Amino acid sequence: MQIFIERDIYVPNHARCCNNHLDEEGLLLRPLLLRLTYVNRPYVIKGHELAIVLRTPRTAAQKEPSFQDENALGDEEFRLFTTL
Ligand SMILES: [Zn+2]
Repeated sequence: MQIFIERDIYVPNHARCCNNHLDEEGLLLRPLLLRLTYVNRPYVIKGHELAIVLRTPRTAAQKEPSFQDENALGDEEFRLFTTL
C-alpha cells in the first residue's frame, strides 16, 4: 500500500522482493521507491484484496481534519480558508 499511496502504482499482495531492497520495516527502500516505474498490465483485484485497496485511502482521509465541520478547524486555519 505504501507504493500505491506514494507512487500510484499497485503492487499485488503476492509480489515479492528480496531483503536487499527492503528497509527494516519491510518497506521498499526510498531511493528505489522514487525510481519505480509501472507496467500497464490488466489485473483483476478480487475480494479481500480489493477491500484493502478501498480501505487504505478511506483510512488516510479519516485522519485528515474534516472540512465539513467548521469547528474542526482552528482560528488560524479558518482564516486561511475563508479570509474572514
Ligand atoms: Zn528485491
